Amino acid sequence: MSRAEPLHLRARWIVPVGGPAIEDGWLRIEQGRIVAIGRRNLPGNPPSGRSIDLGDSIVLPGLVNAHTHLEFSDLERPLDAEGGLPGWIARVVALRRARPSGLEEAARLAGSLRAGLAESLSFGVTTIGEIATAVPRGVYPSIGPRVRVYREVLGLSFTGGSLPGAIARDLNRLGDSAGISPHAPMTVSLALGKALLREAARRDLPVTMHLAESLAELAYVTGGGGPFRDLFSTLGAWPADRPPPVLPPSDWISRLARVRRGSVVHGTFLGEPPDATALDRLARHRDRLGVVVCPRTTRLLSGRLPPVRQFLAAGVRVAIGTDSRASNPDLSVLGEARELVGSGVVSPAEALRMMTSDAAWNVAHEVRAGSIAVGRPADLVVLAPSGPFADPLEAILRPDTRVAATLRAGRVLHGHLASG
Ligand SMILES: [Zn+2]
Repeated sequence: MSRAEPLHLRARWIVPVGGPAIEDGWLRIEQGRIVAIGRRNLPGNPPSGRSIDLGDSIVLPGLVNAHTHLEFSDLERPLDAEGGLPGWIARVVALRRARPSGLEEAARLAGSLRAGLAESLSFGVTTIGEIATAVPRGVYPSIGPRVRVYREVLGLSFTGGSLPGAIARDLNRLGDSAGISPHAPMTVSLALGKALLREAARRDLPVTMHLAESLAELAYVTGGGGPFRDLFSTLGAWPADRPPPVLPPSDWISRLARVRRGSVVHGTFLGEPPDATALDRLARHRDRLGVVVCPRTTRLLSGRLPPVRQFLAAGVRVAIGTDSRASNPDLSVLGEARELVGSGVVSPAEALRMMTSDAAWNVAHEVRAGSIAVGRPADLVVLAPSGPFADPLEAILRPDTRVAATLRAGRVLHGHLASG
């Protein structure tokens, strides 16, 4: 199919997210963009260009996975969760240390990213918030999901001065798609965090940070002890006798809010002692900061679901992320949404915003992604429910609803557009 030729897609439902769902809807795509949306009859007699009737399908904006680490997409199953977050991090470090080096590792990483991008498309995802600890040249192909790549940095021994050159090189390489991620409160010294946020402000880049993911994190940043202190000593990551200065989540929130857009990842224990003001502070900065929850990972590592209702009550934009395949069986945001809706935490309409418009906002791509509207890139997912349905929002989340096709800028990158 030539992208130059205008294309009309008709479907039983078009769910734009920015407005009401359209029954018997159509949309017209030209040069990779949506140029018209309507109901029932196509304009023109006969309409110009090609026309495909997708039958009983539901067309949604391409889904947004607001938080993942594609470097782990080659794992067949999640790592063992014994010992909660500190135990799991120890296994991630062991995995990284056992990897090959040089060209062999570069090939493995490239293969893992390719696998993760293809898997994302197979789940209808067209925009990704990716955390990367290194950014080799050309590893994120131009044809594929749109990727916001947050360059992740961690370190407790950085005491000031300029950031390592590799960080500037990676940010330059990423250009418009760059972001910055200080890893987490227990792994980023105050001096390093300050330098990273200064760099983000200078380059006007969005930021993201794992915050309040575990009680062990809160124990460490408020008292300097607990399982993380032991873990860092074992790993040889403890730089001196004296604990390096680190900050609790509430202080990080104030600092992240100085950048134009940021997201807090997990936030499972925001609002709980000993740092109970963190959630209030997040609410105060909700024009700049959102939160990304990864329900299945939080259930695995913390034995509970994220406090989504508290975030929504505080008026904070909540996005869904899958986290990586080191803590999750797959990269399906629909799978995450099913977990929340199935547990009665959110409604299907809330879940839909969390994997489209509000997720796009969290990764600072809201002008391009997260809703179907005239003038936007035709990033779309075509869902095919397996049986009869009345309510499209309910049908979207059925476990047997299939992703029939995923389009990025009008190009079919997964599945195919078939007459229904
Ligand atoms: Zn993560």
